[in-house]
Amino acid sequence: MSRSRDLLSGFRPLHQFFIGFDSDGCVFDTMEIKQKECFCPNNIKYFNLQPIAKYARETTEFVNLYSKWRGSNRFQALIKIMDLLAEREEVRERGIRLIDLKPLRDWVASGTPLGNENLTEAVNKTGDPVLKRVLDWSVAVNKSIAEIVHGIPPYPYVKECLVKLTQRADLICVSQTPVEALEREWAEHGIAQYAAVIAGLEFGSKKEHLKLAAVGKYPAGHILMVGDALGDLEAAKANGALFYPINPGREVDCWRRFYEEALDRFFNEAYQGEYEARLIEDFLALLPEKPPWKR
Ligand SMILES: [Mg+2]
Repeated sequence: MSRSRDLLSGFRPLHQFFIGFDSDGCVFDTMEIKQKECFCPNNIKYFNLQPIAKYARETTEFVNLYSKWRGSNRFQALIKIMDLLAEREEVRERGIRLIDLKPLRDWVASGTPLGNENLTEAVNKTGDPVLKRVLDWSVAVNKSIAEIVHGIPPYPYVKECLVKLTQRADLICVSQTPVEALEREWAEHGIAQYAAVIAGLEFGSKKEHLKLAAVGKYPAGHILMVGDALGDLEAAKANGALFYPINPGREVDCWRRFYEEALDRFFNEAYQGEYEARLIEDFLALLPEKPPWKR
């Protein structure tokens, strides 16, 4: 961890501007395929949701793609999905008894880093069957992702944006995906050379990435985060940075606008204020708290 973080804190600006890019669902069109083809089937399989598969899918897609929880940790998201399912009329009507995730809730609440490594440790220590099931699920999801998710290029206009901005801004990747996967994906599609640092899960949180790499090193209003989830916005605002949203479902339009308009505004110090506020407002409207079946 500390050597990775040295890469961020030791990073020295070459330009007057800094831009951090999230990777999954922002640079790469990987969120839909991961959630729909990898998470959904495994949620159904490992938590006995076959009789309510349709609602399990709808709920999974809402939480993981089209709500304020988009991009959150998979274990926290699983709890949210099961909570929403438990409240659904269609589930109660069918008399389905959902698996009680109390051991998972306790583990999540314990403050330990929420990854497979720590969960394996907890399973070995407690022998808890629910934690074991969640671990099996999480490992199966990773296996599905490795098998299914590859050959996905960056969104249209991403490369054009990187070429355009590289003359004037320092760029780093700010992600919660393991670094090994990020380096592979960015290199595979010929964009790794644009990033000064590729920061992932092992480098700490996104908030920490921005703080270590950029805060205090650039003039006010010269640090921008580009992302597709609420966590990206929060990481930006916690560091006093600007935020450019890639709106879920409208990604290509957002990248085109970044290329044609927003990037120039950022460089001309005309991004902050009303323009940014309007973009963030549109973005937040796409990530609601209340599911469509409750509206
Ligand atoms: Mg993302």
